Amino acid sequence: MEQKKYVIGIDLGGTRLRVALADRAGVIVRRRAVPTLAEEGRNAVLGRILAETRTILDPLPLANLAAVAVAVPGPVDPCNGVVYRPPNLPGWGDVNLKSILEQELTVPVFVGNDANLAALAEHKFGAGRGASQLVYVTMSTGVGGGIVSNGELLLGSWGGAAEIGHMTIDLNGPRCSCGNFGCLEAMASGTAITREAKWRIAKGTASVLSERVGGNLDELRAQFIVQAAQEGDELAGEVIEWAAYNLGVGLANVMHLFDPDIIIIGGGVANAWNLLMPAIQRALRERAMEVYTRRTCIVHSELGDDAGLLGAVALALDKIDHPMQRQAA
Ligand SMILES: [Zn+2]
Repeated sequence: MEQKKYVIGIDLGGTRLRVALADRAGVIVRRRAVPTLAEEGRNAVLGRILAETRTILDPLPLANLAAVAVAVPGPVDPCNGVVYRPPNLPGWGDVNLKSILEQELTVPVFVGNDANLAALAEHKFGAGRGASQLVYVTMSTGVGGGIVSNGELLLGSWGGAAEIGHMTIDLNGPRCSCGNFGCLEAMASGTAITREAKWRIAKGTASVLSERVGGNLDELRAQFIVQAAQEGDELAGEVIEWAAYNLGVGLANVMHLFDPDIIIIGGGVANAWNLLMPAIQRALRERAMEVYTRRTCIVHSELGDDAGLLGAVALALDKIDHPMQRQAA
């Protein structure tokens, strides 16, 4: 056992595949990032994961590795290690990622949803250290969530818990990627922000954004809108405020359901923190009971872009330190 000094955490994103080698204390020893090239399909991506795992360990043999954990962008059964049709990984279908990787690597492999693992990372290494009830929300292409209760991830019966992005916040809201209408994701994600800005520009509202994309609104990205809002563009500011208010409505629901001591907001859109917070606070004043807003602290992610990767490291460490926990199957 003593030679098994390391774990590997993998953040399998739709765009980037990131890998970290960490020691048993969670200190990152080495890290790598390569394009996922998801369009090449499942087998190519699986091959890339295996190659990157061996490369980052090199020249150490696999015998030095205690565990590998993978953060996946989509629904996951963490007990069996099955990934269910991740929307950003075309052609995957339902895949038992755990058994495929264990067969090749001959070390224990664990799999988790990326936003769940980001919550775990913030609890272990980031803004939520010491919190007993933690909720993490990511505002990126979609809206994801993770909940840590008494030090453990809240997984639900099969692993599907904490999909905060798919709570309905407007009965008549826009269609969501999941097929429902008015989900938080359809009203507060980067995708929603882009759609809303396009719609307002098409209606004739003036904005620097139309010039920034040379009149081609298909080129519009949430990050441009965040930037324009920070520079004082009125339309961009109103769209960010709209999304932040919607997020606040979702957070009021989350507070009443889970009574968290801390809510951590991450993802690229959360970088517009100073623009988001006033509208989030307004929504909470209008929609949450005062005792909840007074007692719940809302903070920006400390780990930023690294949350998923460090979450995978945290999962691997948790599993080898507490192998008998339910999530360790
Ligand atoms: Zn939805």
